[in-house]
Amino acid sequence: MAGPAPGTPPPDSRALVLFSGGQDSTTCLAWALAHCMHVETIGFDYGQRHRVELDCRPQLRTLIAQRFPDWAPRLGDDHLLDLKLLGQISDTALTQDKAIELQANGLPSSFVPGRNLIFLSFAAAVAYRRGLNLLVGGMCETDFSGYPDCRDHTMKATQLALSLGLDTRLEIHTPLMWLDKAQTWRLASRLGGAALVDLIVEETHTCYLGDHHTRHAWGFGCGHCPACALRARGHTQFLAEGHAA
Ligand code: ZN
Repeated sequence: MAGPAPGTPPPDSRALVLFSGGQDSTTCLAWALAHCMHVETIGFDYGQRHRVELDCRPQLRTLIAQRFPDWAPRLGDDHLLDLKLLGQISDTALTQDKAIELQANGLPSSFVPGRNLIFLSFAAAVAYRRGLNLLVGGMCETDFSGYPDCRDHTMKATQLALSLGLDTRLEIHTPLMWLDKAQTWRLASRLGGAALVDLIVEETHTCYLGDHHTRHAWGFGCGHCPACALRARGHTQFLAEGHAA
C-alpha cells in the first residue's frame, strides 16, 4: 500500500499548529488543514512589544473556515497561552523597546533565547492533553536570521526529547524548513490558490515594528524591518514567476 508522499503526514493525523498570525504560521495552518484530519491552533502571548500579530489570529481562523469549506470541519479549538514570563526574562528587540541590530555573537537583537524550545514544550503539553500527535511550526533555515532554535537539527532533537519525555510519539513537522519566502508564497498558492494568497496578504502580520497601517502589494508593514524586507522580496519574486496575487 502506498504511504503518504515524503514529508506528508498520514491523513488520520491530529495536528497542533503553532499559529502566531503571521505569513509563515498561516501557511503552516493551511498545510495542516490540507493534510490532517483534525487541526487545532496554539498561540503565545509572551509580552511581545506588538500585539497586532496576536490580534490577527481569531479573524484569520474565522476567514479560513468561511473561505475554505473543505477545511472548515477539520479546524478545531484555539489555545492562547500566557507566557509573559518569557518577555520578563528576555532582553530583546521583540520584547523590549530596543533597536533590531546585529549583536556581538552574530545573532540579531530580535532573537528571544529559547523561545521555540519553550513554545514547543508548552505545545507538546497541550497536544498530550488533547490527543494530538503532530506539532506543526513555521521554523525555517533558508531565509532565517540565524536563530539556532529554528534549525532542523534543533527540531529533530526536540522531537526526540519531547517524545521520550512524554512517552508518546510526537512528530514535529516544519513544512517551510527548506523554503525561501518566494517558495512560501508559492506553497500558499498551491494549497489554497489565489484565495489563500489574498487572505495572507490582507490579514496576516509579520512586521517587527508592529506597523499594520501602511499597505503594500505584499500586505501591511513598515517596509523596512528585516521581516518586512524578507516578505516583500519573496512576494516580488513570487509575482515575477507569473503568479497572480
Ligand atoms: Zn516592518
